[in-house]
Amino acid sequence: MRQHLFRALFWIAAAVLTLSLIGCAPEVRLSERQGSYVASVLSHVHGLDADALTFPGPRGPVTVYLRNADDPGLRCHEQRHAAQIREMGAAEFTREYIRQIAAYGYFGAPLEADARAAQSACE
Ligand SMILES: [Zn+2]
Repeated sequence: MRQHLFRALFWIAAAVLTLSLIGCAPEVRLSERQGSYVASVLSHVHGLDADALTFPGPRGPVTVYLRNADDPGLRCHEQRHAAQIREMGAAEFTREYIRQIAAYGYFGAPLEADARAAQSACE
């Protein structure tokens, strides 16, 4: 539980930091070098092998591709998160996503299961 809470808090910090660094373009692709660096930091701190992150930005969802930006399954996964953000609204998505990560962990969170289902349909 404590580890899940830590990961949820880390997600918030990553979102705030990312948005302050990149602004609010709907899609950002990091260079291979930048993407590998951010992915390795996420892997060490967050415990996840993330290829992309989608956050609610001030003007709609923002997806940051760390690597594999042309992977169809990954794109569907992140596009599903973007749709969740539009459907729920930024505040409700953030509240619910963090609640789910804290309660169920990353793989057990229903919003993640929903995105993985969208991903499977595209692979
Ligand atoms: Zn996801």
